[in-house]
This record gives sequence, structure tokens and C-alpha cells, in this order.
Amino acid sequence: MMRPDNVIDFQSLIENVGRFDLKGKTFLIPEMARIGAHMIAASFRGFGINAKVMETCKGLDLGKEHTSGKECYPCQITTGDILYFLKKEQERLAENFNPKDYIYFMPEAEGPCRFGMYNKYQRIVLDSFPSLKNVKIGSVTTKDGYSLEGVIEKSRVRDLRKGAYFSVVVSDILDRLLWRIRPYEKEPGMADEFISKSMHILETAFEQYVANKNFNKILDLLDEILEQGKMIIDPTIPEKPLIGIVGEIYLRSHIQANQDLIRALERYGAEVVNASVAEWVNYTTYEGLRSAKKALKRSTKRFDLGEMRQNLEKVIGFGGELFYQQLRQKHCYKRAKARVDIASDHKVGHLEGILKEEDLYSFDAGTEACLSIPGVIEYAREGYNGVVNVYPFTCMPSTVTSAIIKPLMNKMRIPYIDTPYDSSVQPGRETAIRTFMYQAHQHYKRCGRKAH
Ligand code: SF4
Repeated sequence: MMRPDNVIDFQSLIENVGRFDLKGKTFLIPEMARIGAHMIAASFRGFGINAKVMETCKGLDLGKEHTSGKECYPCQITTGDILYFLKKEQERLAENFNPKDYIYFMPEAEGPCRFGMYNKYQRIVLDSFPSLKNVKIGSVTTKDGYSLEGVIEKSRVRDLRKGAYFSVVVSDILDRLLWRIRPYEKEPGMADEFISKSMHILETAFEQYVANKNFNKILDLLDEILEQGKMIIDPTIPEKPLIGIVGEIYLRSHIQANQDLIRALERYGAEVVNASVAEWVNYTTYEGLRSAKKALKRSTKRFDLGEMRQNLEKVIGFGGELFYQQLRQKHCYKRAKARVDIASDHKVGHLEGILKEEDLYSFDAGTEACLSIPGVIEYAREGYNGVVNVYPFTCMPSTVTSAIIKPLMNKMRIPYIDTPYDSSVQPGRETAIRTFMYQAHQHYKRCGRKAH
């Protein structure tokens, strides 16, 4: 890579970040949840888009070099991922490297936290390298419920969105299978090896079947995987305390960033269930519907017919999307749970109901705290033996979650721990996890646990 020049072109933030046609481009996807990233890339490939998951954390030094240290940890990691990938591409292709061939995927969320700024910041970083100015950043936003309008021919946008959502749900189920079987595996390493193999089988299936919406073929394969996965469980291993995870989506899904927290908990005798990725996707659609309903109410009060029509269209659009997503998810889980007793997913409307009932927080304030706070209460009500809140050091929504939830967990006598991460290794972390797990074992002895 050439040396960075430090002139910032603000026009580039508008022109080179957004939704772009992916035809003929290499679409670069950062790895968050490993299975989810690979499956979503396979779905895009099924639609003829050359999607690729970038290696993660190999470029962390580059990420640190081009951030100030005040950014959220996921921003540092993903900045490093894209810079490392492009550096390797430049080395590989030499003068044949063409930045216009790539579109780097970095979605965003509407405020109030910093997720909406990652792609802008990364635009400035890419623009500081003359050779990378023309790498576009493909972004979808929570504002329109992650609409994919414009990235592919209009006639296939809805199918692509459906396929991508379906891949998220299937990945969540495969993750849940791993967490269900690994603590009880017959031989160490069996579960990881099996899940890795299954992920590749499903990737191929997504490439083949997703574009013509042959979802049943993929679910048939998933059924077989679930049946085989179940056989890895050693029935002589006694039941273990059940631990629920909430927190910031990137950190709780990204194994390197959370220093393999699930495995650390398992080492001290836990069976773990992490909050799903689909929960966040459903939340963004749910939020879109909530906002559209409010806007409709306001325009009706003013009797503004033009706005009323527009808002009504939005209500119908988001409402239909949410209905489809929840139905699809319910159907997939029902099929999966008939084979293996994996944990069900939380419904966003139900989580909002808990917040109202307990008067703890409001969806009007937004952010992932809307999911994490009621998610913890739901785990507690369901009979989990402990809850972990995982997040990047200084993450605003997760710090809010911690402040609200900690006293409640104390009152309910349910073990709870915050695990903030950055790239350093905290010397006391292992001891804190071990102590937390001791408490979870005590809770299990006292109260038993939830059956899935
Ligand atoms: S959720 Fe937390 S980590 Fe993510 S952008 Fe917001 S403040 Fe940063």
C-alpha cells in the first residue's frame, strides 16, 4: 500500500458510502459470527454475486494503527480486516489490482450510539490511501430495515432479502446446535469438527438453492445435520448449569474479539445459549414498523393526506416484512426443535412487553439495550442459572444494560457478570469467570434449571 495522504474529502462520505450495484464486483463481508458470515456470503453467491468473507483479526495491528483508540473495538477490528485484505490483494495482483473491483460491506444503525459512524470513519481511512480511494463501501441501514434496494436487479431484491434472512436463521440454528452438543460431546473436538463440516455443506446448499427459493432442500439438509449432531452427545454426561448471553452483537458473536468466551464458560462446566443474530434483524424491522405507526398517527392528526398515504405504505411494508421474518423463523425452529432440543429465540414484541411490564427502559431510547435488558429478564424467568453481558469496552448501550440489570439480578439472586473486551487480556478475567461459574453451579443446585 502507498503511504496515506491526510486530506479528507467529505464529498466521498456521501458518494462512496451507500447502496451500490454488486454486479461484477467482489463483495467483501467482514466476519462477525463465523457461520452467519459464511452463510450470508453463500446466499449472495447463489444470486450470482461474488461475495467473500474476509479473514478476521489478522490485520488488527493495521486497525490499531489507523484508529485513535477512542473508537469501539469492532470498528478497530473491521478497519484492520479491510486494510489487511486489500494489502494482500495489492501484493497478489500487483499492477492488476483495481480498487473499483471491490465493494466492502459495512452496515450501519441509526443513533444514538457509534455504529452509524464506522463506515464514515472507514471511508476516511480508505481515502487516506490514494490506491484505495475507489474501493466503495456498501452500506445498508436500520432506517429502512436493511433494505437491499439497488444492490441487484429490482425484480430480485425481495428474493435476495428473503434468502439472506433465511441464511441468518439457519446459521443461528447451527450455532445453537454447537452450543447444545459441545458441552456433552463424546470426544473433545468432535462437535467443532462436525459443525465446521456442516457449515460447508450448508454453504454449498445455499449457493445451489437459495436463488430459486428452494428453502425446503436446505431445511432437509439441516434436519440431517441436526440428527447427526445429536449423536455426538454422550448421554452419560450429567446436565450442566445453563448460562444465557446478551450484549453487543459483534462482540458476543465474534470469537476472537470475545476471547472465546463461550468455550471459557464451558471449561468451567456451563452449557451456553447466546442471543441470536436474527433477533437484531427482527428488531430493526420491528423498529421500522413502530416508527412508521407513530408517523402515521401524527399525519392523521394533522389530516395530511399525502403523508398519511406514505406512512401507511411504510406500515404495510414493515408489517409484511416482520410477519414474514417471524413466520419463517418460527417454522425453522419448529422443525429443528422436533429433532434436537435447542433453545428457542425471543420474540421482539415479547421483549418490549417485558420492558413495559417491568418499567425498566423504553424502545423510544433505542439501541441494543432494548433487547439485552428484557433478554436478561427473560433468561431469569425461564430458569437460567446465570447471565453474561458481553460488550466492547466503553460500549454505551451495554453499559446502560449493566447499570439497570445488575441490581435486579442481585435481587433475584441470579449470578450475573459483565465482560467488557478490548484487544488486551485482562489478568483477572479467568478468575472472574471461574467465580461466576461457581455461583452458577450453586444456583443450579438450589433451583435446578430450565429444560430447553
Ligand atoms: S453498540 Fe457499543 S460497540 Fe457498537 S457502536 Fe454502539 S457503542 Fe460502539
